[in-house]
Amino acid sequence: MTGWVEVADGVLQGRYEPYDVTVAVVRGADGLLVVDTRGSRRQGDELRDDLRVLGRPVRCAVNTHGHFDHCFGNQCFGPGMPIYGHERLPAQFAEHEAPMLARAVSWGVEGSEEFRDVVLTPPTRLVGAEERVDLGDRVVDLLHLGRGHTDNDLVLHVDGTWIVGDLVEESGPPAYGKDSFPLEWPDTLAALLPRLAEDSVVLPGHGAAVDGTFVRRQCDDITVVADLIAVLHAAGVPVERALAEGGLRWPFAPEGLAEAVRRGYAQIG
Ligand SMILES: [Zn+2]
Repeated sequence: MTGWVEVADGVLQGRYEPYDVTVAVVRGADGLLVVDTRGSRRQGDELRDDLRVLGRPVRCAVNTHGHFDHCFGNQCFGPGMPIYGHERLPAQFAEHEAPMLARAVSWGVEGSEEFRDVVLTPPTRLVGAEERVDLGDRVVDLLHLGRGHTDNDLVLHVDGTWIVGDLVEESGPPAYGKDSFPLEWPDTLAALLPRLAEDSVVLPGHGAAVDGTFVRRQCDDITVVADLIAVLHAAGVPVERALAEGGLRWPFAPEGLAEAVRRGYAQIG
């Protein structure tokens, strides 16, 4: 981490390797709200150390979604400290992250040493459609706008600044995984867009802060992916040929879209 960068008044960003994952901090009179906890106990401990320079107590943590690189440091934020996450996040742990963790540890895959002392720690405050956290002199709104990158994505809003997790990515293309909802992702971002000004500060889950214009463009690209999946499916193109058949019409490198196509086809039925 190269240091905390204040991207908006009292909103700080730390960019961490591996994965260039963003940790955001909202500074309030009562203390700090920390968004995402990184990907292991060691990384979470390092984050807690880095937070000390900010000179205020950590009041709570929020998980933008259940992927390991955003919440396997949860065990370092407790006990007794509220951790907010979407109500489906525990199911994400059970269905995806716990089996991945067990496999990585038992197979000894590269980098898995860090996983050995991860104790999966789900959020203690489960959020449905929305929740408000009061930091004394400012409030932070937590919103679930729909499914997309996962079924448990939360976005945060504080004084015109948005922290959006992996619903938007800057340092790489949007990540379509086995737990993504490629056909619903456009609507979820479309629900966010009217709330953004052109110059709104938006913090993605990976990469530099962006603005409303960037999010609009990425929403357009994600819409192209969804529409193309529907067109290819309707034309009877088999799932294994869809990437090649879509050719240059895909807005992102096709290598990253295999799960988008598979999931999209399955979700069309
Ligand atoms: Zn993710």
